[in-house]
Formats: sequence, C-alpha cells, structure tokens
Amino acid sequence: MLDSISVFAPFWLCFKKPGTTDSNSSRSPPAPQSRVQSKICQFCDVHSLKRESFDIVWEDDDYVAFRDHNPSAVHHIQVIPKVHIDSVKSLTRADVNVVDRLQSISHNILDGLGIPISDRRIGFHIPPFNTVNHLHLHVQALPYKSFARRMKYPIAAGIGPYTKGLSWFVEARQALRILDQGGQIRISPC
Ligand SMILES: [Zn+2]
Ligand SMILES: [Zn+2]
Repeated sequence: MLDSISVFAPFWLCFKKPGTTDSNSSRSPPAPQSRVQSKICQFCDVHSLKRESFDIVWEDDDYVAFRDHNPSAVHHIQVIPKVHIDSVKSLTRADVNVVDRLQSISHNILDGLGIPISDRRIGFHIPPFNTVNHLHLHVQALPYKSFARRMKYPIAAGIGPYTKGLSWFVEARQALRILDQGGQIRISPC
C-alpha cells in the first residue's frame, strides 16, 4: 500500500508546490534559468551547514555522491554535480562531459562495492517525475525492494531512430547517446 503511493509520490510532489517555477521564470531569461540555484534546492544544501544531513560516500571539487535517504534497492546512491542544473531536460550536447563524468563516478562507486555489471541500474528521472529539481543520477545495485520500487525506474529501449522509448526514466548511457546526437531528453521516445 505504502509502496504504491511512493510510486506516484514524485508526480504528487510536482503539483504540491504550484507557482514555484512560474514565479522564478518570470524574473529571469529562460536559457540560464536551468543553471540558477533555487532558494529551495535541497541538493545545493550539500555545500552548507545542512551538509551534515547527507551521507556522503565520495566527492571531489565538482561532484558529490551520497546515499539516498529512502533507498529503493540494496544500494541506492545519488551522484550530483555541485553546480546547480535543474534536470536532464535542460541538458544539451554541451553537457555530454557532465553526464559522462556522472556515469564514470557511478561505476567507480559500484566497482568499490563489488556490484556486478548486470546488477547495476544507473539513470535519471525525467520531470515532472522527479522529486528534487537538481540533476541527480540514481546509482543502484539490484534487486529492488519491491515491484512498486522497480516501477519507479523503468528502462525502455528505443525503437528505430530512437535511443529511448516511452518512459519517465532514462539510463545514463541512453542519455549520453541522445545528447551526443544533438537530441534532448524527454518522456516520449527520443
Ligand atoms: Zn541545486
Ligand atoms: Zn529521481
């Protein structure tokens, strides 16, 4: 019961705070907006005193990895760029290096945990199916804790010209390919 609610939690959260995005976007031009730190971004708090609340497992000057507060799988870690980027939707070909770095950090962490490649799930949620509007890569070691948890991270292979099918989750490797080809990441096939 609780799990079935949590599947839709990201969607619900999106509508919980109506107007937040609107009020911001009316003040700033659209292009740089996705790189402007929001006053309420909890992942930007990793720089502040609230850093204490993060279970940090790895970091360097530009990226940080911490354990998810509510893990969906055996291991569930978030890897984020320290600079604020809204989400995968705001990424372009110019960000291939960011995604590439996030992905290699993830594999290094999972290597350190001894997780076989076949048990790794590495990807992003696509808005509005994201809980925090700061780009974060979900790094997981399977299995999931429940079917409902698994359904939060569905992988859809692309058909024909598409790298990814209809899904609110995109694997890091899919995202890399889409961006490298000059595309943008969407819930619809891309
Ligand atoms: Zn942020
Ligand atoms: Zn997410």
